[in-house]
Amino acid sequence: TVRVRFCPSPTGSPHVGFARTALYNWVFARQHRGTFVFRIEDTDKARSTEESYEAMVGAMRWLGLDWDEGPEVGGAHGPYRQSERTELYLDVLAQLRESSFTYDCFCTTEEVDARRKASGSKVQGYDGFCRELSAEQRAAFEAEERRPIVRFRMPDGSLTWQDLVRGEVTFETRFVPDFALCRANGDPLYTLVNPVDDALMGITHVLRGEDLLSSTPRQIPLHQALVELGISARVPEFGHLPLIMGEGNKKLSKRDPQAHLFMYRDSGFLPEGLLNYLALLGWAIAADRDVFTLAEMVEAFDIKDVNPNPARFDLKKAEAINADHLRMLGLDELTHRLVPVLQGAGVLGDPVHDADAQLLEQAMPLVAERMNKLTEAPAMLDFLFVEEADFALDEADAAKLLDDAGRDVVSAAREAVEALESWSTDAIQAALQTKLVEEMGIKPRLAYGPVRVAITGRRISPPLFESMELLGRERSLGRLAAASS
Ligand code: GLU
Repeated sequence: TVRVRFCPSPTGSPHVGFARTALYNWVFARQHRGTFVFRIEDTDKARSTEESYEAMVGAMRWLGLDWDEGPEVGGAHGPYRQSERTELYLDVLAQLRESSFTYDCFCTTEEVDARRKASGSKVQGYDGFCRELSAEQRAAFEAEERRPIVRFRMPDGSLTWQDLVRGEVTFETRFVPDFALCRANGDPLYTLVNPVDDALMGITHVLRGEDLLSSTPRQIPLHQALVELGISARVPEFGHLPLIMGEGNKKLSKRDPQAHLFMYRDSGFLPEGLLNYLALLGWAIAADRDVFTLAEMVEAFDIKDVNPNPARFDLKKAEAINADHLRMLGLDELTHRLVPVLQGAGVLGDPVHDADAQLLEQAMPLVAERMNKLTEAPAMLDFLFVEEADFALDEADAAKLLDDAGRDVVSAAREAVEALESWSTDAIQAALQTKLVEEMGIKPRLAYGPVRVAITGRRISPPLFESMELLGRERSLGRLAAASS
């Protein structure tokens, strides 16, 4: 059965490439009824932070990508933080050392560099000097109290694998130097622990970004060694997902604000909308279709359809897709998601008063169609929930629309609606239409703009007549009076 893993290093804040890789792995696991393993690659003590670890877990929770094994969940192959697995790595390293798959290397970086300079070689990395040390050479190094590192002995020839995304990939192993598996102090390195964990955790498919393509020709021979030693059952299959390009055809970098996942959460994206967009960075459900649910993706995804070419990141498109998902939620669910946003912005109290909850329910149909992100709601709804004493007009909008003529319009509007028998959308609309447009001959745009600012405080708002109905007679008349004086 399928076992995939998502294994970020907790160094910094989660970015969109992180989320795309997590999504593809998750979808692949779910569609094969397999297991999605979440592992934390925190062996680099200098760069890993607890804060980043929390952010990684929080990002997965926000996205709704649940894991079958991993932090907080546990599982049969734990622990799932590499910093807690050192014993396991040292054990595997010892087994490798007893075999001929590795050798001890005593060289210093300076010595390797000096030899490369002397020979004029263009090949970067280690030159294999310690591959076949004699007993005397070894003894001499040990007498100098040098501490060896363990290097993997790269096999000769060329290495080919069938990449799940790219098809056949071949590397000449003479361009892949023998690599270190641990530091001189014995600390295991990424080069060792990543394949070892994939082996010990029974991973069948490695789906990850193209930036890791160059580590695959090192990892496959190491996997083969682990299989031969009986530590592992298989060499996993590999698939490398396309690079994500940002502005100006450059790789999306951590310096781009739009590279950071929490920017989307904090700016009011729905996880559903963002996931849909991320799915499109390398895959399409159909030629003429951009919007779909996660369940539909699980149904339709095929790793073989992933496009190996770089994918271009397009924030505008992400926003448009998010807007579609907002409308797909339905009013009840949308309300449910909006409440914390409105509370955060101080529009609603916590807990929400009954009267406010009722008002919100009535207002939702007015704003649902006008919103692209959750964070747009506070500005649109604030006028309904604010205490009259705190109600304030947007200064720029008021300056533009409530000049002398605007104030006259608002004053006339007040006269038109003040005596209405029924305070309903239709009655308000009819009264304003008759008075302002028909009797006074003002163009609708010029008539309703100032009234809108007086009532909602802004030029852009939910529909005016409905807003006045919801706001109620007394508050509406009060605001019209205040704006026309
Ligand atoms: N920990 C690695 C990274 O965050 C992932 C390695 C992999 O997916 O194999 O880049």
